Amino acid sequence: MVRCVKLYSGYYGCDKCDQRGMWAGRMLYPVIENLNLRTDQSFRECSQPEHHHGENPSPFCSLPIDMVKAFPGDYMHQCCLGVMRKLLLLWTRVRTEVRMSRAQIAQVNNRLIALRKVIPTCFARRPRSLDELDRWKATEFRQFMLYTGKVVLRGILQENLFDHFMTFSTAMCILVSPELAVSHTCYAHNLLQFFVDRGGILYGPQFKVYNVHSLLHLAADVTSLGSLDHFSAFPFESHLHHIKNMVRSGKNPLMEIANRLEETIPMKLPETRPENMVKEGAVFILSPGECCEVVSLTDNAETVLCRVYTNLQSYLLTPCDSRIYGAFRAKTRASEMRLLHRSCLVKLAFVIKEPHGHRVVVTVLHTI
Ligand SMILES: [Zn+2]
Repeated sequence: MVRCVKLYSGYYGCDKCDQRGMWAGRMLYPVIENLNLRTDQSFRECSQPEHHHGENPSPFCSLPIDMVKAFPGDYMHQCCLGVMRKLLLLWTRVRTEVRMSRAQIAQVNNRLIALRKVIPTCFARRPRSLDELDRWKATEFRQFMLYTGKVVLRGILQENLFDHFMTFSTAMCILVSPELAVSHTCYAHNLLQFFVDRGGILYGPQFKVYNVHSLLHLAADVTSLGSLDHFSAFPFESHLHHIKNMVRSGKNPLMEIANRLEETIPMKLPETRPENMVKEGAVFILSPGECCEVVSLTDNAETVLCRVYTNLQSYLLTPCDSRIYGAFRAKTRASEMRLLHRSCLVKLAFVIKEPHGHRVVVTVLHTI
């Protein structure tokens, strides 16, 4: 709206490229390669007039900003509430050959519910069953997309669909991690390009709606602005939640909020703080080959007694070795007790117990 351009439902609605959409009951963006990208200059010169609303330029054009790069996509809406939700609906609701059977959905639900005990408290919400999908919040879709989906769907969802989902999940793990977003951006982009292309074959041409298409521009936003949490709507929504909680009477809510905001000291947004997470049962990654589970806090405030799992193995090998984004398989046999300094315990993870004494270790990657 502030850029005075057409919406994503319009023929020229993509903020990043000038591809003309194709109407098939909904707006689709079928082309994935050789996209002609918009630039600050092409935007200011209105080189594609159909993209803009009327003659008047956006008031933001008077600012010295890049009118394309300064308005990134938002993964909370486009990926969590968009693509991840769309996939879950296709697997559980829409009557096609990609839908899971009732028994399979029940199996996934059982696995999700079992995970409620192991999800660390830095997650705002614990997993809920797919029967409650209509009430899932953005953070729940994010949790599924980055962490739990790969574990609960494995061996249940059709293998080709699972492998396809893993290209999306892996790319998102990379782009959300501050370290991997720098070192593996190109790889994440290639994965997303494959995901969009292959999605059109697996789920039909209707799959390529705007949210799916926007994945093709996500890595470029990360290159210019940093990992996904640097420019997502998650902190905004979280703050909105605080603001909503300020309303007590419901009468003149805006005035009430304005008064409360004047009284309040600016609030710091919640962050994942691993140093506050050191408690019994908490799991931390120590190195690419080792992780530990806190067994007990000691009398010495500086050290903690931990069970250290050595020789961590890959959990998945498709589309790449999952150790890259911090998903491992650990064996109880390859573990030992050690006293560790608290300063080693910064990279938070959680453990999911599997049959035969195996454990899946999943690293927490998001930062907000
Ligand atoms: Zn585009």
